[in-house]
Amino acid sequence: MGYKEFDLTVPPGFTGEDLKKILQKRSGLEDFTYSIQKKSLDARKKKEIIWKMRVAVCSDAYTDELPGVPTLEIPKGKHDEKILVTGSGPAGFFAAFVLQKAGFQVTLIERGSDVESRSRGIKAFEAGGEFNPKANYAFGEGGAGTFSDGKLTSRSKHIKPERNFIIESYIAAGAPEEIRYLAHPHLGTDNLKKIVKRLRRQFTELGGTMLFETQLLDIEVKDGKIASVETTNGTLDVDYLYIATGHSSYDTYRMLMRKGVPFQHKNFALGYRVEHAQKWINQAQWGRETLPGVKAAEYRLTTQNDPNHPVYTFCMCPGGTIVPAAAYPGQNIVNGMSMYDRGGEFANAACVAGVQIEKLLGKEVSPLEALDWLESLEQKFFAVSSDYKAPAVSIRSFLNKKLHGVTPKSSYALGLEEFPIWTLLPPSVVTALQTGLQNFSRKVKGYEYGTLMGLENKSSAPIQVLREKNGQVEGFENLFVIGEGSGYAGGIISSAADGVRSAISLVSKLS
Ligand SMILES: Cc1cc2nc3c(=O)[nH]c(=O)nc-3n(C[C@H](O)[C@H](O)[C@H](O)COP(=O)(O)OP(=O)(O)OC[C@H]3O[C@@H](n4cnc5c(N)ncnc54)[C@H](O)[C@@H]3O)c2cc1C
Repeated sequence: MGYKEFDLTVPPGFTGEDLKKILQKRSGLEDFTYSIQKKSLDARKKKEIIWKMRVAVCSDAYTDELPGVPTLEIPKGKHDEKILVTGSGPAGFFAAFVLQKAGFQVTLIERGSDVESRSRGIKAFEAGGEFNPKANYAFGEGGAGTFSDGKLTSRSKHIKPERNFIIESYIAAGAPEEIRYLAHPHLGTDNLKKIVKRLRRQFTELGGTMLFETQLLDIEVKDGKIASVETTNGTLDVDYLYIATGHSSYDTYRMLMRKGVPFQHKNFALGYRVEHAQKWINQAQWGRETLPGVKAAEYRLTTQNDPNHPVYTFCMCPGGTIVPAAAYPGQNIVNGMSMYDRGGEFANAACVAGVQIEKLLGKEVSPLEALDWLESLEQKFFAVSSDYKAPAVSIRSFLNKKLHGVTPKSSYALGLEEFPIWTLLPPSVVTALQTGLQNFSRKVKGYEYGTLMGLENKSSAPIQVLREKNGQVEGFENLFVIGEGSGYAGGIISSAADGVRSAISLVSKLS
């Protein structure tokens, strides 16, 4: 059977029947099967919003064969080396999964709880209970992205085979097949919770070992090699150690620095989460409050008025909620998540300014000092109310630097406290954010009626390990630092791809 591709535009709300009719007309065929190759919403002209699609029609009438997608080759063998992977986020899990498939004995340790206990811990915390260091939005099974919007977009280049492997693994674990072809695929927290559990089962059925509530505390280094590691559940011997601990695990990075693992600081971003009623965003982006067959409108805004502080929105969660994303008690950090239906009342996004820490502080800064500085900022936001209420203001208050005595309505479960949040960030960052928000308010009608709350500082890591492309740390024979915490990846797909690539590189070396 052959195929032919057709580029189509269809209106929102089209049905499978409508699509079939269009394809019958375009191909002149009655009997065929089809598969969608690409699908994206084009909302540039509000009066003419369309889905753009590429569809492959498969029929005996065609002779060209449907080209295969680039796939990952995992060389299989029998290996005696003991591999320890630390952190069950996208980077650590996919590194462990690939290494286990390749025939290694892999143990994956995770300081947080399994996803079921993690869900309970988060629920109790958001109902006013104690912060749980093992079950929160940063730590626990699946890593930082489990309770998220599950956006699977990535700006990383040259990761097609890795990306396809990750996408197919998600689909095999229950993700909707549309993530293969949508321009902006996402999973939602409800799907992610099930997916990480099913992936765990697949990993353990292959023979992998997964230990929850087991924290890496220390490493023993002998002649440039990691000989063993100390965990909260005892000492483990290792032949190869993968560290995939995300960018919130400050205690782990401080320990690694003490042990001579080389780091440098890097550019990162600071700001707030911004929240609007989703219906305003729909109105601004689509010219109407609803669009048949489309869940909720998205946006992505950038401006570069100050070259030292480019301002942009990031990680937008349509129909989502803002969540307390601290990894440790006594910090106030916010982030965003949503369910697959993106059906919530609010839209949120990070609104941040890029920073170079040495320019910002006007002095030389070591990687350790960069971590300390960022952590003290997280504590400063917490000190506003000495609990997990988020300090917040309306954008209009922020622009005028004037409080209005109003606490806006929000999706944030732990409540807001009106506070002059411009006093909590460095003045140059605040000025850049003000200019940026004025610019965004010109681009998106009504943007200035949103709410800002803080702190949002997790769009990228403040430090970067010195490592080879494959993740192997300079000066260490058997240590890999991967994923977002390495400073070379960010987001679910790029972190997972970093894990896959580093695993494949070791498999190739030892095969
Ligand atoms: C609320 C939220 C929403 C997000 N939404 C999106 C999104 O929609 N799309 C997107 O692409 N990205 C999103 N992100 C970012 C994304 O989650 C991260 O970029 C990604 O998870 C990084 O993967 P990672 O494996 O490198 O690290 P992480 O996912 O952070 O995983 C690190 C893991 O290591 C564990 N760990 C840490 N220290 C230790 C230790 N010492 N011993 C043992 N285990 C340890 C942690 O508990 C954690 O499970 C979101 C992040 C948050 C917090």
